[in-house]
Amino acid sequence: MTAVLNPVSILVVAMVLVTVMSMVISGSLRHSTVRGVPRWIGANAMAIAALLLFALEHGLPPVLSVIVANLLLALASVLGYEGCRQFFHLRTVTVLPYAGCAALVLGLAYWTYTFPDRNACIVIVSIFYASIHASIGWIAWKHRAPTRSLYGCCFIVAIAGISVLGHVIRGLFYGIALLRQGSLMQSAAPNMAFPIVGMLALPGLSMGMVMLVHERLTEQFERWANVDELTGAVTRRRFFAKAQEMIEHAAASGAMLSVAVVDLDHFKLINDQYGHAAGDCVLAHFGRLSRANLRETDVFGRVGGEEFAILFAQANRQDACSRMEGLRERARLDRRKTSVDAQDAPPQHYSFSAGVDQYRHGDTLLELLARADAALYAAKMQGRDRVVDMQEVPRPASIVSIAANYGLDVDSASSGN
Ligand code: GH3
Ligand code: MG
Ligand code: MG
Repeated sequence: MTAVLNPVSILVVAMVLVTVMSMVISGSLRHSTVRGVPRWIGANAMAIAALLLFALEHGLPPVLSVIVANLLLALASVLGYEGCRQFFHLRTVTVLPYAGCAALVLGLAYWTYTFPDRNACIVIVSIFYASIHASIGWIAWKHRAPTRSLYGCCFIVAIAGISVLGHVIRGLFYGIALLRQGSLMQSAAPNMAFPIVGMLALPGLSMGMVMLVHERLTEQFERWANVDELTGAVTRRRFFAKAQEMIEHAAASGAMLSVAVVDLDHFKLINDQYGHAAGDCVLAHFGRLSRANLRETDVFGRVGGEEFAILFAQANRQDACSRMEGLRERARLDRRKTSVDAQDAPPQHYSFSAGVDQYRHGDTLLELLARADAALYAAKMQGRDRVVDMQEVPRPASIVSIAANYGLDVDSASSGN
């Protein structure tokens, strides 16, 4: 009973529980595809085994409670370090940490058996953990994603920083014999404070890694929701959200805004003739080409299977038409470079038709898109492979009916700038 109520035992049990919780939390990510997670789970498991050996110090021979326990804890930190490297896509197997483990074990064996000196043991342990935790903090900071939340990264850097500071002070105190250690788990406050900080560092760091994993998964999901994988264009949902923002900005500021609605010509024929994969290559090619020729302020969206829309910020209808003409010309000259050709399939000759119109004060998004769509319909009617400005469109009944589908009065549309 006395042993159970001993403050040292209570602290060790608390540290084991914290590490178990950290392992369980890391374990919740075991099925994710994010790299490094299995190593963090393994690191926590090893740390738990090491803590149990430390806790049983008085009932075990030093080879277990000192050498094996420290080796396990050191390897746990190396696993954590490797998991961190793996997470950031760095080379995992590095010799230095394992050389550090070997040096640590040799030092501990020497100062335990040959020339017993607990203080010397503590100094080398402190050097080892200060180095490895500093490396983890540095890697997390160096490879932080500047456009994403820095919450997890700052947490890791803070935990690593506290641990490094604790180990450096501990190493100095014991190195110059300001403190002396009788046994590993000595209950005097200064002797306990440092190991607690040191042993809590690993679960702390692994929780920080869990935060980084969540941030990365969030980024991935946002990308999947907002960017079309095949063409790199923004998804329909994202395009409409951005378009609405731009319309509101144009309405409030009077800024110019134009839109082009694009549809690849006879695309079904490409699929039928060369197969769906060839059609996909053409779509990817068109996506690459369009993105390469857009400004940062433009928005390029895939609004349907082989239908796209481009919003040109600060552009009038002439600017938008000439940029679409440029794109059409590039698609004509560049199309032999599609990846289909690289696979020795016949070159894909594709073209597109586009309808262009400009925002007029008071337009809703739907009205603007409907007018551009009517111009696209005219481009198809005129023979495809062309860019048509809505202002130049004659008014056959079919266009009036398309526009009417969107609730648009074409005659008022034609009176725009
Ligand atoms: P038009 O010139 O009149 O636009 O003729 P079209 O053949 O391009 O038009 P249609 O709407 O008849 O055909 C569009 C085709 O696009 C049908 C569909 O199978 C194909 N498609 C839609 N999405 C994808 C895709 O992601 N990959 C591939 N390969 N084909 C797609
Ligand atoms: Mg279509
Ligand atoms: Mg088409």
